Amino acid sequence: MTMDVSSAAFAAYLVASLLFILSLAGLSRHETARTGVTYGVAGMVIALVATVALVIDVSADQGTGALPLVLLVVAVIIGASVGLWRARVVEMTEMPELIALLHSFVGLAAVLVGWNGYLEHPRFALDSLANIHDAEVVIGVFIGAVTFTGSIVANLKLSARIKSAPLVLPGKNIINLGALALFVVLTIGFVATPGISLLGAVTLVALALGWHLVASIGGGDMPVVVSMLNSYSGWAAAASGFMLDNNLLIVTGALVGSSGAYLSFIMCQAMNRSFLSVIAGGFGIKAGPSEAIDYGEHREITARDTADLLAGASSVVITPGYGMAVAQAQYPVAELTARLRARGIAVRFGIHPVAGRLPGHMNVLLAEAKVPYDIVFEMDEINDDLGGVDVVLVIGANDTVNPAALDEPGSPIAGMPVLEVWKARDVVVFKRSMAPGYAGVQNPLFFKDNTQMLFGDAKTRVEEIVRALTADETVGLSGVGRGRGQGQGR
Ligand code: NDP
Repeated sequence: MTMDVSSAAFAAYLVASLLFILSLAGLSRHETARTGVTYGVAGMVIALVATVALVIDVSADQGTGALPLVLLVVAVIIGASVGLWRARVVEMTEMPELIALLHSFVGLAAVLVGWNGYLEHPRFALDSLANIHDAEVVIGVFIGAVTFTGSIVANLKLSARIKSAPLVLPGKNIINLGALALFVVLTIGFVATPGISLLGAVTLVALALGWHLVASIGGGDMPVVVSMLNSYSGWAAAASGFMLDNNLLIVTGALVGSSGAYLSFIMCQAMNRSFLSVIAGGFGIKAGPSEAIDYGEHREITARDTADLLAGASSVVITPGYGMAVAQAQYPVAELTARLRARGIAVRFGIHPVAGRLPGHMNVLLAEAKVPYDIVFEMDEINDDLGGVDVVLVIGANDTVNPAALDEPGSPIAGMPVLEVWKARDVVVFKRSMAPGYAGVQNPLFFKDNTQMLFGDAKTRVEEIVRALTADETVGLSGVGRGRGQGQGR
């Protein structure tokens, strides 16, 4: 009995699909995440082996020789080398921009598959499925092209190569709706009489729409955009799966598409944003006032005085942000936490859902530094307690602790829930300058009476505080006596 390679590959794709579903289920919980990754790797290996076997089989059938296999191997070698190199050198803080770039590749691949589907399979008038094939081509090209340029803009914004402020063209909503209407008209035209110029027009409209949609979204909403592009890239892959008649691509694309859409929805809820408004390129969002508000003078504090303030506290909350990731300050922060707890001071962490540049960014860093998980709280769990806290250390966070989100309706981050750190007795903000956060807006927290700025690299400053506390312990000072009364709070 000869083995039917295409049936075996079909079965292998089914197994790989199941492994991907198990992988997603595993990744949804800390305890099972490692197993989830193993399932994902196993699924991908099976899928790759099955694809290579299929290429060899089809080449033998069609008598095309070794060329398809050589092309496949060359593509895999180039892709794997670039992928391995980037994965090794990428900093944790650069992950979102890398992910955005990877989404752009999926989009580009979907565009190329769509064009290939059109050029390689000329339409036969009597083919009853021809219309469906044409619709798949045009939809795949459209989603792929929107994902491609949208992801490039997201990459440029996240890597600060272009401004994160939203682009507000006059009539931007009309532009987006007009582009969608044009796409519908062009699709109907292409399905009726397919032609290279119509497909070219769809590609151009989609490229421009992707660019405009993401350019119109402001800094604070970028987390949702990244997960939304993740979702788009999934749908683009699924569309390619229909064109290539590849079940694995359809299942995987649908998994990525739906999980990305759900993550975007959850993030929108956490940030009090309308899901539809964000996916429609900031539909209904108006530009805020551009004049700078004078909030008054800020006050500064030294690491030595911060150590004293902490030594005199009985409860401390640390709210980390992107700056902690940049400074890689999580290890000294973990050490500081251990030292304060050893003195009987209650230390907790307050994590904003979009702190850092990735969903769960801060949780990963704190887990890496072995901060006990039971003292790490979500924003909603800790916000109501902040009024009773002695000292809040804001370590490299900015937008996520900005009261303007609640007090200034015209602010680009207006309406976003934030960690209400200013309710604590004393607040110390660790950052290097008075520069604004990711959303590009000034933070009135820095000018409040109970806030003091501790300028410098967060890692260096936290290490200095740890050294000061250690020195106090060495010379036998209790630290408590020294610290009490130095809180320069309200
Ligand atoms: P922000 O990005 O608002 O601010 C970070 C602050 O860290 C800056 O003000 C910077 O000030 C400071 N900083 C940078 N480097 C250092 C350093 N070495 N030492 C000390 N401080 C440093 O941080 P948040 O975490 O509060 O907010 C995240 C923002 O990113 C939000 O706007 C969110 O919407 C957006 N975002 C989030 C994503 C996610 O999925 N989590 C994805 C994409 C965007 P200075 O330069 O003065 O030091």
